[in-house]
Amino acid sequence: MTDEQEALALDEADPLPTRRAEFLIPPAPDGSYGESAYFAGNSLGLQPRGVAARISEELEDWARFGVEGHTQGRRPWVGYHELLRDPMARLVGALPHEVVAMNTLTVNLHLMMASFYRPAGERTRIVIEDTAFPSDSYAVASQAVHHGLDPAEAIVRLRPREGEDTLRTEDIADYLEREGDRVALLMLGGVNYLTGQLMDIQAITKAGRAAGAVVGWDLAHAAGNVPLRLHDWDVDFAAWCSYKYLNSGPGAVAGCFVHERHVRDASVPKLAGWWGTDPATRFRMGPVIDPPASADAWQLSNPPIFSLAPVLVSLEIFDSVGMGALRAKSERLTAYLARRLTWVADVITPADPAMRGCQLSIRVRDAGGLVHALARSGVIADAREPDVVRLAPVPLYNTFHDCHRLADALSVRITGSL
Ligand SMILES: *Cc1c(COP(=O)(O)O)cnc(C)c1O
Repeated sequence: MTDEQEALALDEADPLPTRRAEFLIPPAPDGSYGESAYFAGNSLGLQPRGVAARISEELEDWARFGVEGHTQGRRPWVGYHELLRDPMARLVGALPHEVVAMNTLTVNLHLMMASFYRPAGERTRIVIEDTAFPSDSYAVASQAVHHGLDPAEAIVRLRPREGEDTLRTEDIADYLEREGDRVALLMLGGVNYLTGQLMDIQAITKAGRAAGAVVGWDLAHAAGNVPLRLHDWDVDFAAWCSYKYLNSGPGAVAGCFVHERHVRDASVPKLAGWWGTDPATRFRMGPVIDPPASADAWQLSNPPIFSLAPVLVSLEIFDSVGMGALRAKSERLTAYLARRLTWVADVITPADPAMRGCQLSIRVRDAGGLVHALARSGVIADAREPDVVRLAPVPLYNTFHDCHRLADALSVRITGSL
């Protein structure tokens, strides 16, 4: 059996049939396979076929009802975000009133920090990972400045041990034990965007809270990639975007989680807007806010319906598959890709499946050049200059055959260039 035949057989035999037919797969430039092998779903997930019709329905309702669309039409806009609540809660392991779809990721991180980063006395630090996504680095530094602190002192960046690429849970716990009384906020990526490392969210949250810190998570690369149990893990807050594994389109409306213990606590300070008041009394237009005991209390504006529609379509797909089954397939796909790439010298993603999501990151000499070369053979990957290429087999629409095409194209392009 050839490698290609094996990949096709694995697709045929897999217990979770692919949902590829529900997605629009970009065409390959060389035409050899028609569709590209798309491994950039960690950057921008593909478009579900159902999205266009769902947006059209809202456009039609706007045409037909005008302002009355807020209360009439198929999905009245005034409560539209509530349609996303239950499936989003299931996706991240939250209680329904702990989640809300709103804004974009960095905005949500700021709203969460406005409530939960409360530097006081010696406890002023924000701890992030050294390989944090730049937006997170900028956001935390600006929060420090906002409180009159010097980011050079307030922001701590956790680095892996010499010669290692990823963080160890025990090193994070050690830091918290030593310096925890100075930490106001611990805010890490659930899955690191660069290395693909899946953090032990439960253990790290426990260590952070035991040290007296607030623990928030950026789940941009975790939501829709790995199963989460944010409520049970006692996470204080979390935020994630919806355009990566959640396939909801560029700039899609993001998600936000606030633990039940905080949504019940009226003393938590919030930046407020009219969508954060109780919907039952919102249109009395009074001057004093009356927030509900839910994550909805952090909403500011009435939401962008055309941007929420794709998120709803996407969440319906996740709901119909289930994160458990999806994760199991993800592990099979990524293990297969890892096996086909054993000759690649420098895989920086942990080899232990429990410590990674679907993404594998490899270190090469000319990441940009390699990604361009792959694109010419219809394989879409993503470069993080100067030397990291990220490859994400997404279990909803990638196949074992896609992985075969990637492995083949890589072996042609990088043998000799590693
Ligand atoms: C993708 C990503 C972002 C992007 O932020 P936006 O506000 O959605 O533009 C931020 N943080 C992390 C960790 C990411 O992976």
